Amino acid sequence: MPSEQAVYLGVDVGATKIIAGLFRPRTQGKKSETAAPPVEALSQAKVRTPKSGKAKDLVAAIADVARLAMEEAGTSSAKLAGAGVAVPGPLDREGGIVRYTPNLGLENYPLAAELSQALGIPIRLENDVQAGVLGELVAGGLRGARNAVGIFLGTGIGGGIVIDGKLYTGSTGSAGEIGHMILLEGGPLCGCGNYGCLEALASRTAMAKDAVALASSGKSLPLFEAAGTDFRKFRSSAFEAALEQGDEAAGRIVDRAGFWLGVGMANLVNILNPEVILLGGGVVSRFGKRLREAAKATMEERLMTGLAATVKVVLSELGDLAVPAGCAIAAEAELEGVKR
Ligand SMILES: [Zn+2]
Repeated sequence: MPSEQAVYLGVDVGATKIIAGLFRPRTQGKKSETAAPPVEALSQAKVRTPKSGKAKDLVAAIADVARLAMEEAGTSSAKLAGAGVAVPGPLDREGGIVRYTPNLGLENYPLAAELSQALGIPIRLENDVQAGVLGELVAGGLRGARNAVGIFLGTGIGGGIVIDGKLYTGSTGSAGEIGHMILLEGGPLCGCGNYGCLEALASRTAMAKDAVALASSGKSLPLFEAAGTDFRKFRSSAFEAALEQGDEAAGRIVDRAGFWLGVGMANLVNILNPEVILLGGGVVSRFGKRLREAAKATMEERLMTGLAATVKVVLSELGDLAVPAGCAIAAEAELEGVKR
């Protein structure tokens, strides 16, 4: 089958938005750093995730945004070579079942079958962060890496580990839960029930909780104006705007999150010896540079002599399209047996 002409659909189903993209693999010539990435994005579309908590509304929204992306690329589901849809949380990939998604309200739900029926094509399910790391590995900031770690920061913190050029998924597929490394026993409560996880110290949710404490004491006017004292309203954009206004209180919150991220990264480097760590996710697309500086400095202070020079810390290149691209790449790999 001529994969040059084949087009793949990838969809990232998040707690706040659903993003779909269409992708076409490029035939690769000689491998070089400067060659065009091996997948080309043809279109993308975005909608807000429905808030009803009903599975049928979610399926309808995913199908709608997929159709929008297909329309924009001038194609239809009948012409697609494959399609993948990524969700947060554990899943049964073979059975196409979403086991549990804390933020989407799905539990043991046959999402692949429901979407296949709505769109008229077979759908492959993926874990969102694993798909994001695969996307960056094949077509983004981790291109060419043999040993790497991807850390995605947003509402929570997810991760993916690349060993010898391949995504490492572990014995039951759940490897890379970097957000639940316990860094401060007895620290803030995490969504997983433990105290002091990286996620409870450095996610956007953790920063939002700090911002509420500050805003309610009148210490950060820009943050208070953006979101009041409801921590759910502190989007990454609110922090970005406060940083742009030179608000030092917001800066300290971001630097503290970066500090804990750096402690986690030092542990990962000691255990895995990666050549590169990639930071991605909604937080990073808004104020990744400042976060990276704080995290990198903290990590380097804690690494053994000489080790810091062996690891790069880069930002996501694909941004919002990392997860959809990873879904498309995984769908292609399944169909063509491609091991990129
Ligand atoms: Zn946790």
